[in-house]
Amino acid sequence: MRLDPSYLEYMTKDEFRVLTAIEIGMRNHELVPMHLIERISHLKRVCASKVVKLLLKNKFIAHENKKFDGYKLTYLGYDYLALQVFIRRGAIKEVLGKVGCGKESDIYKCVNENGDFVILKFTRLGRTSFRTIKKNRDYIQHRTSYSWLYLSRLSAIKEYTFMDLLHKNNFPTPIPIEQNRHGIVMSLINGVPMQNISEIDNPKYVFDQCFYLIKRLAENGLIHSDFNEFNLMVEDNGKVIMIDFPQMVSTKHKNAQFYFDRDVECIHVFFERRFNYQITDTLDFNKIARLNDLDVQVKASGFIKKEIKNIDDFDIDLRGSDDDGDDDNSDDENEQNDLDKNIEQEDSDNEIEESNKRIQNLNILNDEDISQDENE
Ligand code: ADP
Ligand code: MG
Repeated sequence: MRLDPSYLEYMTKDEFRVLTAIEIGMRNHELVPMHLIERISHLKRVCASKVVKLLLKNKFIAHENKKFDGYKLTYLGYDYLALQVFIRRGAIKEVLGKVGCGKESDIYKCVNENGDFVILKFTRLGRTSFRTIKKNRDYIQHRTSYSWLYLSRLSAIKEYTFMDLLHKNNFPTPIPIEQNRHGIVMSLINGVPMQNISEIDNPKYVFDQCFYLIKRLAENGLIHSDFNEFNLMVEDNGKVIMIDFPQMVSTKHKNAQFYFDRDVECIHVFFERRFNYQITDTLDFNKIARLNDLDVQVKASGFIKKEIKNIDDFDIDLRGSDDDGDDDNSDDENEQNDLDKNIEQEDSDNEIEESNKRIQNLNILNDEDISQDENE
């Protein structure tokens, strides 16, 4: 089934109740057993199983009965939970179609309630091998139990947070609009990925912007870490826009120099091979990092530390604990309460407000951050 906002009009309250119950149950259970779905959703068995059947038919949930018998949300079910929130917020009115399908995401072109084009990005971790993700993504360190949905959500939060910070600090990025679960809504860039450009009038103009961006990011204590022709879009006037931020790291990361040099190298190789552009400039990480030690990096490292800490706080808020948890009654009671809370929350969009509040607190040039960091 494709992503179609009009389908949400046909979905009953009970369908959302059961979907949300499974989402909540998955915090502590790999598979959510039927009796738990009934308890969390407060629906009687007959009603709950009828709804479960319908959700299964539409592939919003999946059933497994190998080792345990239970249900889990599919990405499609998770998509609809997020889509419902985006629609209520007016960020999306219509989904026009898929414009991109990355290794770990699906990108849709949409229209918002004002009739403007926007982009919806759903992160779908789990498509590539876990080892790659573990190696590349710093937000799952020290974690023993997690699910792909949960990690995709963290990735979307991280991407939205960085996009927001960069945008507020006048870096050329899409405008971040909304974030919920594993989804982000952002402005549409009227341009093409650099990878799709075979000829260019003024390669120097585009190349210089790329180099300047890598340098300016590093001066602010940041490394994109995936700065290449697939994640740079070029507008008609030749302006370069950066996208795709979940893998960004701080210049204090233990492999910072490696990521920095790789970003520089990617741009070198691309411009030489694609446009036959001979490059003499290069960027020296140590020089930039040493410069930063004086003052700029102090600000930036404060931002990075706080950003990562906030994502960790989010984690605790969402999951309660990192344990897998037993199927005992105290868990069930908590989960029942969670559903009531969750449905109330969904109605008042608290979750988004909470997320926005956290994001607003993270300002790269916030004086408080700087003095806090200097005191540490
Ligand atoms: P992934 O994480 O899968 O690499 P990206 O964020 O890099 O996803 O996006 C994949 C593709 O989707 C891009 O190469 C681009 O073609 C398209 N895309 C992403 N964001 C936008 C946007 N804001 N405006 C226009 N196109 C976009
Ligand atoms: Mg990308």
